[in-house]
Amino acid sequence: MLKIHCPECKQFFLWTDDMPARGKCPNKDCEWTYDIHSALKQNITRHTGTAEKKDLLCPACGGEITARFTVCPHCTNIVLGNKIFKKSYFFVAVCIILIGLSLVFKYLVK
Ligand SMILES: [Zn+2]
Ligand SMILES: [Zn+2]
Repeated sequence: MLKIHCPECKQFFLWTDDMPARGKCPNKDCEWTYDIHSALKQNITRHTGTAEKKDLLCPACGGEITARFTVCPHCTNIVLGNKIFKKSYFFVAVCIILIGLSLVFKYLVK
């Protein structure tokens, strides 16, 4: 069974296995002929299209990741949205922040 959308009369109808693969739209006033094979193909591409959108992919290696902000399990880069940070850069940034904070504390203690 397959739901077919007729572009002529803008109505949906159900195609069942006992119907021919090619035939006329069941709507009396409509002359459109359906082709079940092309309809099936359209259905499949539509399904895979939505599935691809759901999967999050690492911008660095294209591997599957579980969240938008995570460490990629395939290439160990840090993924932030569609940007990536190499782990080494991240550690340098953390070091600079820590040095900055220690300087601030030094001045506060004085
Ligand atoms: Zn029709
Ligand atoms: Zn990756």
